[in-house]
Amino acid sequence: MAQKITPKVETIVGIPATVEYLGMPCKWEIKPHPNVWEVQAGVRVHPERFFESHRFPPAEALARSVQFEAWQVRDEFLSLKTDQEFLDFLNRVGRFMSVKVGGWVVTGQWDADDFTRWQQMFRECLRRSPASWDHVVEGVFNPKSVRLVRRILWVSRRFTLLFRWKNTQQREWRSAQNVAVLEARDVVTAILATIYVDHLHGTKFGFCHRDDCRMPYTIESKHNRKYCCQYCAHLESLRRMRARQRAGGGKKGLAR
Ligand SMILES: [Zn+2]
Repeated sequence: MAQKITPKVETIVGIPATVEYLGMPCKWEIKPHPNVWEVQAGVRVHPERFFESHRFPPAEALARSVQFEAWQVRDEFLSLKTDQEFLDFLNRVGRFMSVKVGGWVVTGQWDADDFTRWQQMFRECLRRSPASWDHVVEGVFNPKSVRLVRRILWVSRRFTLLFRWKNTQQREWRSAQNVAVLEARDVVTAILATIYVDHLHGTKFGFCHRDDCRMPYTIESKHNRKYCCQYCAHLESLRRMRARQRAGGGKKGLAR
């Protein structure tokens, strides 16, 4: 019978943690998927999907990888709305995920609606404990994507963890002597890594009440905040005012 192992657990406090996202440059385009058929308005067509292809061989791509600020990548991804915005973002930040099937990175899998679902998934991850993430997938994605998404989440939480000491690096990490670095090579891993660090730090999130925004913000006080920024708060108050005016039938004689 296998021996039961009880690993020694050390509590390490005061080590700052960060995420390093090294984007692998690749070219993204939207084109009809040659192997998929869909009925749209009564006609069988190849639906349009996002495809990634590598501009450079993998070894060279590694040398050309570009460093991004991972929390900024997360905020940007969560703010995207149109096909073109997703496309521009991906062309800048590189590979979306690294799951391989038969030795190849899966491509042509997503349309813009799927990226919207990924945004929703990440919002749920911000809101919930990592222990419950797998249960959320079915509620967010189409049944046909659930297995792949589960696999991506499983692969993307196997991080490379680096410890760096100040003596070997000239950078300041606040006043700390060392820093723990979660290294990410694709967008999903980078975003999940930032969410793990935020959970470890105990950060709590609220989500903007403007329906067409839904950006996360950190809850720092008991103050009843509803919007991510001044702009959203202002826009919503304008919308409420206009709705009141319309309901009042313009009786107040406001100038147009
Ligand atoms: Zn907002």
